[in-house]
Amino acid sequence: MGSNCHDKTRANDHPPTGWRAGDNNKNNKNKDKGKDKVKVGWVLKISLETIEEIKNEAARAYPYECCGALIGVLDGDVRDVKEILPIGNERKGEAQRRRFLITAEELAKVEIKIAKKGLDILGFYHSHPDHPSRPSKYDEDFALPFYSYAIISVEKGKPTELTSWVLDENRIFISEELRS
Ligand SMILES: [Zn+2]
Repeated sequence: MGSNCHDKTRANDHPPTGWRAGDNNKNNKNKDKGKDKVKVGWVLKISLETIEEIKNEAARAYPYECCGALIGVLDGDVRDVKEILPIGNERKGEAQRRRFLITAEELAKVEIKIAKKGLDILGFYHSHPDHPSRPSKYDEDFALPFYSYAIISVEKGKPTELTSWVLDENRIFISEELRS
């Protein structure tokens, strides 16, 4: 039995280096009120090459969802994605169909791999086959604070838009600025 991509309670115990709970919203809480758009001061820095890699993963997995980790360093309010790590590609059949399942074992493997390089898990990506790149209720319900949740839409096998989302203090997803 696996938990899904967002259900990583153990990751919660070890927030990436530099993360200080409550820091992010101190100054722009009021500014953001009612905007429900891009959160001021939060940026996901991700190169066009890395976006291309995610798109390739998403196209390969279609009509199933792909899933993986966004790996990099936290630099102030900027999450600087250095690489992606696809997760669960070896799954077959019915397991592939389920929503971006990820086991604790798979996550542990990722953490071991990146710790050697001095990198952190900044978030996760997954694809929405034939659905818009907007978080589902399920996505929101199972998301954890801090992490970026990048979503790539795949329309009839062709990857289209990539968006990224972060939970606010009310556990509502707000879109995150993407910078290459
Ligand atoms: Zn989703």
